[in-house]
Amino acid sequence: MDVHGIGMTSQRTRDRLLQRLREEGIHDERVLEAIRNVPRHMFVDEALSSRAYEDTALPIGHGQTISQPYIVALMTQALIAGKRLKKVLEVGTGSGYQTAVLASLVDEVYSVERLEPLMKQARRRLREIGCRNIQIKLSDGSWGWKDHAPYDGIIVTAAPAEVPPALLEQLAPGGRLVIPVGGPSMQQLLLVQHTDKGLTQERLEHVNFVPLVRDSI
Ligand code: SAH
Repeated sequence: MDVHGIGMTSQRTRDRLLQRLREEGIHDERVLEAIRNVPRHMFVDEALSSRAYEDTALPIGHGQTISQPYIVALMTQALIAGKRLKKVLEVGTGSGYQTAVLASLVDEVYSVERLEPLMKQARRRLREIGCRNIQIKLSDGSWGWKDHAPYDGIIVTAAPAEVPPALLEQLAPGGRLVIPVGGPSMQQLLLVQHTDKGLTQERLEHVNFVPLVRDSI
């Protein structure tokens, strides 16, 4: 039965995507399995669903984009580092695709989005595909989500000029933060780790995210 409304052609393009991610250096089998299982075509408009398994970002309305699968895989791999994390905070729910990938790999996902239509749509889609270990709220994620802190992992999918201090404060000892930092058109993807000796920072690669918008309070 074709449960996700995805035919043989799409199955082939999905396999091709997996192959490509491997070639690009994604080696964590659990991450690859999560990408294989999450129906990305359910997180874009129907008009774009035929392109859902291309390794490219696509528009989701409101000037935002669903991230490129390679970037989702890379960030997820860096975040979980081969472990089963308990609690993860995501800033920038967007389509909800990255949220769904995380939900299949960690115990609990808390996700924050500042645009209400996107938040509601993501909530609906995640419910439709049966993700239950997720909570989403509408707010400025620069402030994190204090109620559920500290987090074993924090992933940010919009780019601030600098790492928001609240996110560092909400990172558990041993926790990992993956975040793009920089100007509007080019950023550096950073891995920040909360170790015994304090915070360490590693540069992963250059990326291109929409800006993290700060709402005035
Ligand atoms: N991971 C998402 C990426 C969406 S693009 C996906 O693959 O679909 C980034 C998202 O971050 C957008 O939806 C944007 O509205 C949201 N965003 C930008 N600034 C934000 C902020 N300060 N707080 C919460 N969400 C924010």
